[in-house]
Amino acid sequence: MPRVGIGFDTHRFRKGRALVLGGVTIPSPKGLDGHSDADVICHAVMDALLGAVGNGDIGRHFPDTDARWKGACSLDLLQHVVRLLTGDGWGVGNVDVMVLAEMPRLAPHVQAMREHLGRAMAIPVSGVSIKATTMERMGAVGRREGIAVMAVALVAPVTRTRGRRKGKRLTRA
Ligand code: MG
Repeated sequence: MPRVGIGFDTHRFRKGRALVLGGVTIPSPKGLDGHSDADVICHAVMDALLGAVGNGDIGRHFPDTDARWKGACSLDLLQHVVRLLTGDGWGVGNVDVMVLAEMPRLAPHVQAMREHLGRAMAIPVSGVSIKATTMERMGAVGRREGIAVMAVALVAPVTRTRGRRKGKRLTRA
């Protein structure tokens, strides 16, 4: 059976930091604060993927108390999560991402983000949807204090045919 997972993340804006979203560095007077590169899109997608397979969350896999993840490229972390999944016999179907941000304008960067995420997850760009909306100036995001992201991911068991993996058949269906 295919399985779905949900992910959510928020990060505060902070001056002097680069704004990295979906692996794309976007020109902005402020970036997002965080232990890693604070790529809030990648973080929500990772939690959705881990949720789909019931394998904890990114806080467990990449604790912010661990110096290894300081300044980490979140696309690399996403790739790591996908490797965990595929190692357990799962394939990523698609992800749908909803970015809540008052600024900056994301539309010009959406296609590049989809390409980066698709590459990191080894799925076609058509399997990566990124949508953005504002909060109509309501709440913390509306006051431009930070960015929030929701993500949903679908994964499915992969049945490898004989011969592709030294004759090993994975039947997790
Ligand atoms: Mg995060």
